[in-house]
Amino acid sequence: MGRPNVGKSTLLNRFLRQKIAIVSHKPETTRDRLLGVLTLPDAQILFLDTPGIYRGAKTLMAKHQVQVAREALAEADVLLMMTEAQAGFTDEDKDLLRLLPKRSPEGEGVPVFLAINKVDRVKKDLILPQLAVAGQLYPFREEFPISAESGTNVKELLEALAHSLPEGPPHYPGTQVTDRPVRTMAQELIREQVLLFTHEEVPYSVAVLIEEWREGVRGAKIYVRATIYVERDSQRIILIGKAGALLKKVGQAARKGIETLAERPVFLDLWVKVAKNWRKDPVMLRRLGYG
Ligand code: GDP
Repeated sequence: MGRPNVGKSTLLNRFLRQKIAIVSHKPETTRDRLLGVLTLPDAQILFLDTPGIYRGAKTLMAKHQVQVAREALAEADVLLMMTEAQAGFTDEDKDLLRLLPKRSPEGEGVPVFLAINKVDRVKKDLILPQLAVAGQLYPFREEFPISAESGTNVKELLEALAHSLPEGPPHYPGTQVTDRPVRTMAQELIREQVLLFTHEEVPYSVAVLIEEWREGVRGAKIYVRATIYVERDSQRIILIGKAGALLKKVGQAARKGIETLAERPVFLDLWVKVAKNWRKDPVMLRRLGYG
């Protein structure tokens, strides 16, 4: 768990050595709970990446995210809180601490670790004081200054997490990396491309729905019809771009990603539709899998 942008998805992808969670420089990228499975020679770890939790969450969407995060926390055998070295412990981080179980370091219950990420961005002497502050704020089992991007201390952190797991049989076959259906991942890949190619208010107004997924079209191709929902017509115009140029770029990049995922050529048929205020519409939220 951690506030948006501290690098949770980056760390997850590094742990899994492949791209499961989507990563971007914009907050609110990971909207729903997401599971990555890492099978090591002597352990299997299932990662739940919680969505960001916002202060003063007001919209239905934001409330749903808080709920999803709480559920993920309650289910975990081990918790890892993430902060970022440049910012130190912000008020938002402190808010999140309140979601952690209350107890002493030796106490029974779920071990809670801390990772201070992005240490590649700060001088070393700025990190020690943060470790001290962290210790005063919460009895973490162990604290790790890491860089999810460059890999500093990531192996050590992973070992600590693996060692603190309860013993049990593996839940998934060793070859499986995620329990997310390929379609959901395709949906996320399209949304990721929209995030990369658009700015300001458009990214947060976007949802993607796979409407049709047909295999074996004209040889081995997969036909995928997807709709990108935006909240306003002005956003639809931006997203389509001049003579469809932007949508084409989004489509081309997303198609490549889906082909890698599906291991087959894909024909991606991409549409943009306006669904006014879908983030506040319970019916729309359910259709889009957020309800
Ligand atoms: P999330 O919202 O917590 O999942 O954060 P992301 O994983 O999407 O990362 C947010 C941004 O921080 C992205 O632009 C990442 O490339 C960047 N980032 C993540 N980890 C590191 C790191 O260790 N060092 C640096 N310099 N940047 C990082």
